[in-house]
Amino acid sequence: MKKEIIIFIFLLTPHNGFGMQLNQVTKPINDFRDYENNASDSIKEFYRLNHTNQTLAFVIAQKAKYADLDKLSMGIWDVMDILDTIIDESDPDLSLPQSVHAFQTAEKLRADNQPDWLILTGLIHDLGKVLTLFGEPQWAVVGDTFPVGCAYSEKVIFTPYFQDNPDTLNSLLQSKQGIYKPQCGLENVYMSWGHDEYLYMVMKDYLPEQALYIIRYHSFYAAHKEDEYTHLINDYDQSMLPWLKLFSQYDLYSKSSEQINCTELLPYYQELVAQYFPEKLNW
Ligand code: FE
Ligand code: FE
Repeated sequence: MKKEIIIFIFLLTPHNGFGMQLNQVTKPINDFRDYENNASDSIKEFYRLNHTNQTLAFVIAQKAKYADLDKLSMGIWDVMDILDTIIDESDPDLSLPQSVHAFQTAEKLRADNQPDWLILTGLIHDLGKVLTLFGEPQWAVVGDTFPVGCAYSEKVIFTPYFQDNPDTLNSLLQSKQGIYKPQCGLENVYMSWGHDEYLYMVMKDYLPEQALYIIRYHSFYAAHKEDEYTHLINDYDQSMLPWLKLFSQYDLYSKSSEQINCTELLPYYQELVAQYFPEKLNW
């Protein structure tokens, strides 16, 4: 029997979704991330650009560019506000403000009595999309991530678009192990650059390791959905993958779910954020 969840489409007031009406529609679970039937031309173009430009050299350069976290000093809630001006062009399931997705993910975790650090992770996991504010193109901010410096798994989304990636001309970078030792662990692997790795860098000093792992790899669907890249992951990754799989259920299936009154929820989340973070962080 086809499992269905109830979806509500929100009609938002002009600012960050802190007041809203809703209409109800239903969306079957299998319809999430349905790129075959749901991918618009703009999503395809997004992945063409992403797969063409995410080279090993690009990733190394981006890591160096942001390593010092010297772009801005901002609090969590400042970034949350900024995020509402950003649209994720890679997402076939979400056309709501990012803050609504943040609250929806966190609330679904809270409803299931998940630990407070995981609820907090739900709230903040996409804040790295603030990279667009620094002038990064969408293909360097959002979308599924994948290892660079080794062969691409066929389970990575839209693999044909890798054809114009300059790394395909380098046989080492296209071999199965590439530049990596067997079971070297994901922490030693260069992932395509985007909001996951960047937010991990920002959050490193503040959150438990499970939360950091989720933040760093939540867009790595080839690993946590398709169980690919087993030749790179080590025992530590194996121990963390269940968290990633668990989180992805909330990240994905909370999209456009039940009614959320962000204003009412704010005091709870302000306290939670204050427990873990200083007033300002380096971005
Ligand atoms: Fe994300
Ligand atoms: Fe998300």
